[in-house]
This record gives sequence, structure tokens and C-alpha cells, in this order.
Amino acid sequence: MKYIGAHVSSSGGVENAPLNAKNIGATAFALFTKNQRQWVAAPLSDKSIELFKERCREFGYLPHQILPHDSYLINLGHPESEGLEKSRAAFLDEMQRCEQLGIDRLNFHPGSHLGKISISESLSRVAESINITLEKTRGVIAVIENTAGQGSNLGHTFEQIAEIIHQVEDKSRVGVCVDTCHSFAAGYDLSNEKGFNEAFAHFGNTIGFQYLKGMHLNDAKKGLNSRVDRHDSIGKGTLGEETFKLLMKDPRFDNIPLILETPDEEIWSREIAQLKEWGSL
Ligand SMILES: [Zn+2]
Ligand SMILES: [Zn+2]
Repeated sequence: MKYIGAHVSSSGGVENAPLNAKNIGATAFALFTKNQRQWVAAPLSDKSIELFKERCREFGYLPHQILPHDSYLINLGHPESEGLEKSRAAFLDEMQRCEQLGIDRLNFHPGSHLGKISISESLSRVAESINITLEKTRGVIAVIENTAGQGSNLGHTFEQIAEIIHQVEDKSRVGVCVDTCHSFAAGYDLSNEKGFNEAFAHFGNTIGFQYLKGMHLNDAKKGLNSRVDRHDSIGKGTLGEETFKLLMKDPRFDNIPLILETPDEEIWSREIAQLKEWGSL
């Protein structure tokens, strides 16, 4: 079964996210559980939590159809102790919010070395951050997203993500989200069948599909190996329709949230319908 949705707004409260998802015909959704541009947020109210759970039940969203995203400020591989501590505290808060909402996974970007420490040192910090957080929480999987490799961002190669996983103690609570745009920008050519098959064979060999806990379905504005993170609407970018047709027919992407982060939210319902159609052909 393919679960397809978009990163919907939770403005006015997290309880509005399942409603916004249902309104575009989504069978999966992503959300922020707090303002993604602020370090600290008020705790979730009991009423918000209750209503969120109630609506997920009513509209049929199970935990494996929901992929929350953490704040963009968090850098779990931060080279300096102050930034690292702040990031770890904020990440713990994000994981606890997921726990409260009955969500079983949290998507995040691994972090940046900021040119101040080595890549391997920064990757170890990410793993240590995950270990510390898992010890303080229960039932939520830390889902590492592959990146476009812009600037000093970690995680644009599957090898780097595998290295983080290797250093995580509880392997049952670490996972990966593959973003199609980021993969293409990082040099994995998903735009044609040959490149698609090679990239995901490589994913299987370096990381393993047992760790795949979600996908971000985005076309790309920039070219292969551009290392620039700019999303485009499905079929309108440099990846093109082929990538998504292949993905929708491939059972390795069953039973996980497949999330659009495409720029034109007015057409999300059409994009979802189109993807569903490609999956049923
Ligand atoms: Zn993404
Ligand atoms: Zn992106």
C-alpha cells in the first residue's frame, strides 16, 4: 500500500494538520509540531493532543502514515558545545511532542560541521545526539533525511548516513527518509530507470531498506549534482515524471509516508491524485 500526502500546515494547532491532509485527499501527511523557526515553544495542550489523536483515528491516519519534521534551527552535529546543547535540548522536546501525539517517527536533517570540525567528527556528534535522545524517550524513531549537500551540510551521501546509523546503539529506533530532490542534487540520478535502479541498489547496499521510514517526493529546480536544495512541482523540474512513476510502481516504497514538499500547495490534491494514478496503472 502506498501512503501519499504533503507537508501540511499546523497553523492554529497540530490538530489542524490531519484536517488539512484529509482536505487534499492525502493518505499520509507531514507537519511541524511547533513553530519551525523558533527554539522554544509552549507545550502542546491536552486539548490539542486529544483532538489530534481523535482526528487521526476518524480520518484513518495511523502512525506509519505520519512523518513530522523538526525545526530547521537544530544542528545535532554542531561543532561548538553551546550550539550542540541547545540543539539537543530542542530535539528532545520535538521527540517528546511526537511521543505525546502517539507518532512513531521524527524526520530531521543530520546537521552541519560549519567548517569547524571534520565530517567524521560531526557525524559522530549526530550519532551521540541521537543516542542521548533515544535514552530519554520511548517509541519514536529518529529518521535521518538525506540532504542536497549544500554548504557544510552533512548527509548528502548514503555512506555518511550509514556511518551515523553504525554509531547509534538502538538500531530499532533509527531510520532514514530519502528526499528525491536532495538525492538528485547530491548526484544520484533518479531521473531515468537505469540511474534510479543504481541509486536505490546503492541505498540497499550501504544503508538497507529496513531503515527506510519515509520519502519526500519533490521534483528539483537545479541539475544533477548541483548541491542546491530547490524543490519543484512533480513533473515540472529537472527530475521529471519518470522518477515518480518508477517510485509509485516499486513495492520497496510501500507502507511508509510519501510526502510532497513541492512549492505550489494549490496543486497538492492534483499531485496526490496523479501519483495515486501512476501507482494503479
Ligand atoms: Zn525533504
Ligand atoms: Zn529540501
